[in-house]
Amino acid sequence: MYEIHHFVDSKVTKGTSGRMADILNPATGEVQGKVALANKAEMDAAIEVAAKAQPAWGALNPQKRGRVMMAMVHLLNRDMDKLAEALSREHGKTLPDARGDVQRGLEVIEYCIGAPQMLKGEYSDNAGPGIDMYSMRQPLGVTAAIAPFNFPAMIPLWQVGPALACGNAVIMKPSERDPSVPLMIAELFAEAGLPDGILQVVNGDKEAVDAILDNETIQAVGFVGSTPIAQYIYSRACANGKRAQCFGGAKNHMIIMPDADMDQAADALVGAGFGAAGERCMAISVAVPVGKETADKLIEKLVPRIEKLRVAPYTDGDDVDYGPVITAAAKENILRLIQTGVDQGANLVVDNRDFKLQGYEDGFFVGPHLFDNVTTDMDIYKTEIFGPVLCTVRAETYEEAIGYAMDHEYGNGTAIFTRDGDTARDFANRINIGMVGINVPIPVPLAYHTFGGWKKSGFGDLNQHGPDAFKFFTRTKTVTSRWPSGLKEGGEFHFKAFD
Ligand code: NAD
Repeated sequence: MYEIHHFVDSKVTKGTSGRMADILNPATGEVQGKVALANKAEMDAAIEVAAKAQPAWGALNPQKRGRVMMAMVHLLNRDMDKLAEALSREHGKTLPDARGDVQRGLEVIEYCIGAPQMLKGEYSDNAGPGIDMYSMRQPLGVTAAIAPFNFPAMIPLWQVGPALACGNAVIMKPSERDPSVPLMIAELFAEAGLPDGILQVVNGDKEAVDAILDNETIQAVGFVGSTPIAQYIYSRACANGKRAQCFGGAKNHMIIMPDADMDQAADALVGAGFGAAGERCMAISVAVPVGKETADKLIEKLVPRIEKLRVAPYTDGDDVDYGPVITAAAKENILRLIQTGVDQGANLVVDNRDFKLQGYEDGFFVGPHLFDNVTTDMDIYKTEIFGPVLCTVRAETYEEAIGYAMDHEYGNGTAIFTRDGDTARDFANRINIGMVGINVPIPVPLAYHTFGGWKKSGFGDLNQHGPDAFKFFTRTKTVTSRWPSGLKEGGEFHFKAFD
């Protein structure tokens, strides 16, 4: 049994609220640790520390901030296995998946080494007689990041890296389900040379989040999590005059055209639908085959692949396909939704409702499920299940298929599998979804592009990482200056303001 507290002013700081939450081992259901839940006073104190430290960090030249990022990349690589192990222990995902979680976060830190380039301003020479005009990007001050449980390394690194590189101090509020890795990340940043007080990790739940949203010092809030909480945080942060970017849930459709390579499409669907137990905001949860023949062929190819999936704890080796879901409540919710699918008339082609793993009967394992003949009025179609459940919605035409994806309230990611360039191009241009894959099932943009969904998957104007992050975490100041003394006596312009 271990305890996770906070990290304030570069020191592990014991929580004083007296409230703690259980950290579960999702493979066994046992309580393996406790995490401190901060109250408003603890959050306010951490924000004050950040506010004192930020001006010096913000005034540092950006190359020096970039060098901290460079050192951090080295440390993340050095501790990759240690971070992955801690991540799998609390989250339950496989070790290769956990390493991927750290790796995708690390790539954003790599991108942040380029802070001097990203923060370069604009200059207009001779905007008027003796007049020059320039714009600079300045840090906001103290910003906050609120993270979900499903990527406890990647998302905190995405949120924190650009904010720090821009010269802000940051309050990081990790998920209370798997708080160890964000704390380890903060310790690594301190080792990388980040000055004291620039990155605080404050653990907690709604009380800690509300303290962030109501604190006047916090200038911007980045949130990633479920849509109802994203909407709540976005509206409360904005009402309190803060900048906010809040990313929510998803229901990602993959369209399979009759000309697609069906083996490639089936492999892609199995990886994207069941990897990480479906607990990815970019997971494919809806397959839309176009035409009866395509649908029949696809189902025929999917079933044996899904039946072969190995569901086990990460400790069982690298050939495990996926592990448990995060909590008993998540497992119950997934099984309840599967039952509604059956009750509402969908065809459960792969049924693992009675799945039990010997020796891990109290763990939160859910076997893989495949539905066919799902319709858009069913709960399993409308709701984000966030589990190992793939729904097949059959479409007769491409227009019908694209219409399903367009009409769904979520707009995070989508994909099309086809060999036809015209169809692929039309799909990419018309679809009202933020991230699009063409024969790529999980089109997560790399660090130097931006990540963000549309519709109810994202609230706010700017995306995560890439150039947008450098805009989100800075504000523009524009200076107009007049230096007439440089003009020769008798020149075109003579400045008389002080005459
Ligand atoms: P969640 O919304 O339950 O929690 C996210 C964060 O919000 C946590 O830090 C939690 O402590 C806090 N929180 C929870 N309830 C709150 C409340 N009532 N008031 C204030 N704060 C609260 O999400 P989760 O279960 O941790 O993560 C899974 C969700 O995140 C899924 O919906 C998934 O699609 C989404 N997600 C989205 C993206 C994206 O980029 N769009 C990425 C990853 C995950």
